[in-house]
Amino acid sequence: MRGSSFRRIIQNFIVNMEAMESTISPKANSALTEACVFLRIGRISAEFFDSPRSYEMKKGESYILYDFGEVNCDSPVILEKETKIGTRIIYTVCPVLDEEPWSEEELDRIDVLLKLLFVFNGRSKLQIANYRLTFYDQDMQIYNLNFFFRTIAELIARNEITQFTAMYINLKRFSAVNLQIGRNNGNTVMRGFIAHIAAVGGPDCIVARIGGDNFAILCRQERTNDVMEALAGTAVTYDESSHDRILISAYVGVYVIDGKIPVKTPENVMDRLSIAIAAAKARTKHDYAYFNEEMLEKNKQQLLISSMFPSALENEEFLVYYQPKVSVDTYRIAGAEALCRWDHDGKLISPSEFIPVLERGMDICKLDFYMLDHVCRDIRRWLDEGRNAVKVSVNLSRRHLSDMDLLQHIVEIIDKNDVPHEYIEIELTETTTDVEFKDLRRVLSGLQDTGISTSVDDFGVGYSSLTLIKDLPWNVLKLDRSLLPEAAVHDMQKHIMLKYIVGMANDIGLQCVAEGVETMEQAELVKEAKCRIVQGFYFDKPLPVNEFETRLADYDYRKE
Ligand code: C2E
Ligand code: MG
Ligand code: MG
Repeated sequence: MRGSSFRRIIQNFIVNMEAMESTISPKANSALTEACVFLRIGRISAEFFDSPRSYEMKKGESYILYDFGEVNCDSPVILEKETKIGTRIIYTVCPVLDEEPWSEEELDRIDVLLKLLFVFNGRSKLQIANYRLTFYDQDMQIYNLNFFFRTIAELIARNEITQFTAMYINLKRFSAVNLQIGRNNGNTVMRGFIAHIAAVGGPDCIVARIGGDNFAILCRQERTNDVMEALAGTAVTYDESSHDRILISAYVGVYVIDGKIPVKTPENVMDRLSIAIAAAKARTKHDYAYFNEEMLEKNKQQLLISSMFPSALENEEFLVYYQPKVSVDTYRIAGAEALCRWDHDGKLISPSEFIPVLERGMDICKLDFYMLDHVCRDIRRWLDEGRNAVKVSVNLSRRHLSDMDLLQHIVEIIDKNDVPHEYIEIELTETTTDVEFKDLRRVLSGLQDTGISTSVDDFGVGYSSLTLIKDLPWNVLKLDRSLLPEAAVHDMQKHIMLKYIVGMANDIGLQCVAEGVETMEQAELVKEAKCRIVQGFYFDKPLPVNEFETRLADYDYRKE
């Protein structure tokens, strides 16, 4: 009778445990309670060890699986089970207080019960481990991108996604933080910062690690401003004893999911966040950018440009336009700058539309070499035709600086076209980082050694410094048009600055070229400041080659 009821209890137990999501702390599991009552068990506790090492160090996790309350734990039944991968569970079973000792049959049945528990508990442990591996970042023990994606998918399915804001953040200068306070403290700071953001974001907020110092955030829209504020700068303690703190902030790409453009998949959200964070990083005024439809359109345009570029280059759709540089002493042509135009199906596209896109990758380098090659072909032809060829400056993107063989590439192109080096000038923008500074010095010295001129483009934009310029072998300083006064009377300060900059440049042996001269008055002011060469719409716009060739003859720029 008792045998058949034990069988029924165990069958019921198996069915019940099978249906449970987690059997590790099966509180109020009626099937387990039934078995324990039947076997006069007062308490079952379990200790889990994840590895042989945690077992050796006695660092396990303890759970009470069943507790009747009145127990006698003087001589418990202990069952220790080890899995093939070295995890271990120890069960401790105590009888109910003041009961007769267990019979042999009862002990056998307790053994059966524990072995079954072991199977179910082991499976639960595996599921938890699997869940952690799938949805947690292993270094930081916070959610990972899988979890972020899954949460978004759930919100989309429940039609609730439009109540949320998603963010992509990149911690600022985090490698410097690691250097400053050490890697371990760096990790503490990162965890502290993320915990703070999650707390500010409220109960529905999740912060997931994308990788490195990049994270994704999802929070309710009404919390957006609070989270943004915390991201703009939060002091995080990394040493509890000394209360040492460090200020952490982040670049943020924000997507307030308003549903204007439908969100069908988590990838939709991630794509829009990537666009927003790229915009945030490219900005100078703010460290954040809110995603909008315009950005999506621009991104499409940029993808189109990147995809069309290879065939456009092969089909020679890029044209060289030449903008004359004019001497203010003789009003004759003194040189020219080669500027790129894209002739796409008869429509001319200006460089501001495609150069920044090409500069995201290395395509810009292919274009620059193409331009140099075409300029050299023109110069060679002019020389062969007996025209009055002038020195032409060619723009080179800073992207080239990582190319160790850059100098060789440039010289090869010029020599292949049999052009004397003095006809070529290379324009590069200034640099501010030390690494680039070294690369720049190497390239510039090499160019000068082979007789090719070098010029600093856009001087005056950003943090220009004449000291920095002095330490590099430049020949020419191209003053950006933002330095030019509109008119002497209205713009006294600029007028004075211009004079001093040109004066100093002349003193350290740099030739000055003023860019963007649009009026006669500006031309006069530049001349007065002792800058001898000007380039600008006042004299000529960038011209197609055939028009430019008319300037190579003895063209007089003096205007009535
Ligand atoms: P940049 O090298 O500083 O070239 C001067 C820009 O100023 C040119 O714009 C020119 O058309 C414009 N400009 C000249 N005079 C005036 C003026 O009086 N007023 C005004 N408002 N603008 C004037 P563009 O041709 O649109 O080129 C823009 C930039 O694109 C160039 O600036 C250069 O940084 C880049 N770029 C052009 N061609 C190439 C190229 O082949 N390779 C690389 N890497 N960059 C290029
Ligand atoms: Mg230039
Ligand atoms: Mg310029």
